[in-house]
Amino acid sequence: MEYALVNGVRVSASAGLQGSCPACGNAVIARCGKVKVHHWAHQHLPDCDIWSEPETPWHRAWKARFPEAWQEVPFTDPETGEIHRADVHTPGGVTLEFQHSPISVTELGSRNAFYKKLVWIVDAQRFQKNFEWRCHIPDPRSPLLDNFSIIGTGRYSMNVPENLMFFRNPAHDKDWDADRVLSFRDPELAEVKALMQRSGDLFRLFDWKWQNEAWLNSEAPVFLDFGTDQLYWLRSRKQHRHPGILYYLQVVSRQSFIEKYGGK
Ligand SMILES: [Zn+2]
Repeated sequence: MEYALVNGVRVSASAGLQGSCPACGNAVIARCGKVKVHHWAHQHLPDCDIWSEPETPWHRAWKARFPEAWQEVPFTDPETGEIHRADVHTPGGVTLEFQHSPISVTELGSRNAFYKKLVWIVDAQRFQKNFEWRCHIPDPRSPLLDNFSIIGTGRYSMNVPENLMFFRNPAHDKDWDADRVLSFRDPELAEVKALMQRSGDLFRLFDWKWQNEAWLNSEAPVFLDFGTDQLYWLRSRKQHRHPGILYYLQVVSRQSFIEKYGGK
């Protein structure tokens, strides 16, 4: 952790300092080596927050975009007495968690349940080599697409929108009792094609080798950070075609994300 109490004042770790943990009150010691970012470690006990992970420069850079008083805010579970420190907790009641390491479905579920309004920012650079962006798609939340499954086929990998396929759900089509397959070449999809133009670069498909099921199915929103000016919101929609769900990315500007939660 970045902050501890020394003589009652919250301070960053610097060599030789001793203090106490603002969450549990136990003794902590400043660790200021050359490899890891300078931090405070519990002196005799394991970290009181079992969810904590060693901080990286990536964590620190994110936290620094928000006021110091919002960082490392401790919470105690009233039933179990467990202590957890929110990376950033805004006055609006939103917790931002910055996660570098992989996480299990079970732990993610516990953490999503612990914080009422939680937003995840995931360091995606560590798995970027397993990740490929695919074709842009029209805004999948549009009512124009309510009765369709969107499927990327063939050369969708090359961002050729004409190769996107739209399967119309026969449950909503009185003239057909099987899926009808339409592409942008079909005049019937003229409105969807226009929607695609309006949607621009905002929505796209992806392939993720060894994808992390926890992030894909998190109830709390998950934003992937590849270290660029944009964050990628990992989203999904239910579809009638196998496998019943489409995962896609929604692009969000990093700066607007930070400002939305009161940072700079
Ligand atoms: Zn502690």
